[in-house]
Amino acid sequence: MNSRSDVIDFHVHVGDFRRLRADIQRLLLQLKAEQDFNLEELISRPKELARYLRREGVEKAVILAEDGPGTNYHITTEFVCDFRDAAAEEAGMFIPFGCMNPTYTSNIIEKYESDLSRGIRGYKLYPADHNYHPITDELMRFYERLDSDGLILMFHTGTTGQDDGIDEYGDPAIFRPILESFPSLKVVMAHAGKGKPAYCKEAEICALQYANCYLDTAFIAADKLLAYQPNLERFSHKILFGSDWPAGVRSLSGHIAALGRSGISSQSLDRILSANARRVLQLN
Ligand SMILES: [Zn+2]
Repeated sequence: MNSRSDVIDFHVHVGDFRRLRADIQRLLLQLKAEQDFNLEELISRPKELARYLRREGVEKAVILAEDGPGTNYHITTEFVCDFRDAAAEEAGMFIPFGCMNPTYTSNIIEKYESDLSRGIRGYKLYPADHNYHPITDELMRFYERLDSDGLILMFHTGTTGQDDGIDEYGDPAIFRPILESFPSLKVVMAHAGKGKPAYCKEAEICALQYANCYLDTAFIAADKLLAYQPNLERFSHKILFGSDWPAGVRSLSGHIAALGRSGISSQSLDRILSANARRVLQLN
């Protein structure tokens, strides 16, 4: 069992399971027989999810909107903010990140202003899953606003798990213009390029090269993390623990405990599981 209680999980999904597209339901149910939690129930119950996460050693969790075809557009920025609010006295557990999907948003800045009023701390964008290139004039103006307002920008990187996605839009290299144009904007490359060795290497190079670039560990098995990121000890101050719960998780506390046995030094582990996220989210 995991004995920590200070973990910050930077990558958690919530939603209404029944409204997800069939391939996403299948993706989430792959490990169902081996899971020590009931994902269909927990994923949509704010108070229960908060209590479960705390039991598993998580102090706070970033909950991610995903406004795209795979979720039938239901996990909007409003959805995750309502989820946080519905947790009532447990709401402090949740840090909502909105979603901007430029393909279906007529006025990005207008939507941004309304999202901001709900108290989001960042955004997750899914170019590979939602099938768009992340560098356009309008999106660059949006990133500039995130930078000046101190929000965090997360991208899905690596190959896509969705039926109609485009892997090339998950190549960490295509985000370089953002890292270079906005050096004070914190950019998180979710999954650290998982799916192609060249993407994983590129994610490492970006994290080493750009002070504002972070990687998260979502959907990476504990015993595979050092295989995908063999030089992790060199930049462990840039790596954020993300479980991708419920995707790919058999037991959340078991996953956290397995990271402790993965060969990562205890100093790096403290950074990855807790300290880095506190710094990035300015929690202390
Ligand atoms: Zn995810």
